[in-house]
Amino acid sequence: MKFSAAASFATLAATAIAGQDPHRVCCEALGAEKQLRGKVLLPGSVGYDAQLNTYYSANAALHAWCMVMPESTKDVQATVKILTKNQCPFGIKAGGHSAFKGSSGIAKGVTVDFGHLNSTSYNPDTGIVSIQPGARWGSVYEFLNPYGVAAVGARTSVVGVGGFTTGGGYTFHSNSHGFSCDVVTNWEIVLADGSVVNANSNNNADLWKAQKGASGNLGFVTRIDQETVKGTLLWGGFTSYELSERDNVFVAYLDFVEKTEENSPDQAIVALYYDFTGFSIRSILTNNMGVANAPAFDGFLALSNTSSTVTSGPISEIIPQFTGPTPLGLYANWFTGMATNTLEALTIIDDLHHKYATMMQAAAPNSNFSTLVELQPVTNSMVDNSVKRGGNILGLERVVKDGPVLMWLVSLTVDTEENQKVILPIAREFVDAINKAEKKAGHWIDWVYLNYAWKDEKPFSHYGKDNIKLLHTVSKKYDHNGVFQKLRQTGFKL
Ligand SMILES: Cc1cc2nc3c(=O)[nH]c(=O)nc-3n(C[C@H](O)[C@H](O)[C@H](O)COP(=O)(O)OP(=O)(O)OC[C@H]3O[C@@H](n4cnc5c(N)ncnc54)[C@H](O)[C@@H]3O)c2cc1C
Repeated sequence: MKFSAAASFATLAATAIAGQDPHRVCCEALGAEKQLRGKVLLPGSVGYDAQLNTYYSANAALHAWCMVMPESTKDVQATVKILTKNQCPFGIKAGGHSAFKGSSGIAKGVTVDFGHLNSTSYNPDTGIVSIQPGARWGSVYEFLNPYGVAAVGARTSVVGVGGFTTGGGYTFHSNSHGFSCDVVTNWEIVLADGSVVNANSNNNADLWKAQKGASGNLGFVTRIDQETVKGTLLWGGFTSYELSERDNVFVAYLDFVEKTEENSPDQAIVALYYDFTGFSIRSILTNNMGVANAPAFDGFLALSNTSSTVTSGPISEIIPQFTGPTPLGLYANWFTGMATNTLEALTIIDDLHHKYATMMQAAAPNSNFSTLVELQPVTNSMVDNSVKRGGNILGLERVVKDGPVLMWLVSLTVDTEENQKVILPIAREFVDAINKAEKKAGHWIDWVYLNYAWKDEKPFSHYGKDNIKLLHTVSKKYDHNGVFQKLRQTGFKL
């Protein structure tokens, strides 16, 4: 969809005092570029408002000076040249599913929104899928289904490819294939100087590796080429238990994680919820070959449950079940951390969840809010699969050297900004309390996953000094003037 903004640009140009107002200078220069005609959106236009409605979290949906919607690599080249020439602050948005204020949209600058650069193509001879960053994973699974292959992508349909894969990407194929970034055979990247490079194991190999986790620090990723997985079947679903089963669910989870075999198709997550209906607990069990009730799940399957949605089918049909309604425009906040794979570490988190969710409810009794705590493993098999494919910059080798670990995610979703003002400080106390209690009990592990992190969690500082060094070296080599450190305002910096 294109929106003509010619009239608005004329008005803008007439009132602009060149050189004095970066807002006008940047948006006017972008609007005047032939290559970008009809692809720059100004506030008040239908297209601009429509894009604001595509953000998952209302916190992230910031009103930019203007938005650029590139439709080709050439458009991105033209955009970056104008941004650097005019020193325009900018943000990067792909699927818009990161949560915090400043994660993808920008208030004082230009949002480069990849939403229209969203196609997928597949080469059956090589088994490589080429995906543009603005695609959503649901569309990628649907596209690949007729070819009998699946992508190593997100566990919900709506998540964007750009942010997910450049930040790592934990998937239903991670035990068998590593993170989504690990199966990337080639990144097409538009660099700060406007040139286009391909980064793979033969060309620009330093950039190829560094981009596997670097998010938006090195350039604009315009195409992602990935290995696919043969077969499209996924078995899985949610199983709910009485709260009194908690310890048994935790024991089944811990045992499952400890016994995870190399390249296993099986994965398990435990999810703890609070909303207006109260607390609840579920497991999310999956087998990425479509095999039902695999023996690895015996511990879970022996427990009595209150309901179960597990089923088998093409990943394109099963993933929407995990997506659920995922409403857009609520006030979402995500936090994460790591602990040992032990009963005590899990219990600490659940006990604190009960304490703090109750405090949140008492502080904002009329709010419609929910919390979700996800407990999911990082296993040796995941990390071995990363290393086998050339490695990434997440620094997980150190983390799993004594065995699998627990990655926890706390997600808070609130109905209104006013209620968020009351509840968010309590959620932050909750997260601090988890880290403090895990440290006291000797379970805390120094690692933070970028794709789940809150704005002050500084994920790169947890990835180890060799990886930080690589990121800095690659950043200096491919972005001499530090455009993606200085002008880019969104996401995490090195
Ligand atoms: C409902 C839901 C389910 C999720 N499920 C999973 C899951 O299964 N596994 C998992 O690991 N994570 C999951 N996440 C987290 C998800 O990986 C991150 O939120 C991710 O950032 C989303 O990607 P996006 O393109 O939508 O992000 P955006 O918010 O659009 O972008 C986030 C950041 O990514 C970078 N970026 C985006 N596009 C580009 C580009 N073209 N070039 C360079 N940098 C770019 C930018 O720095 C940007 O600031 C989920 C999130 C939600 C809301």
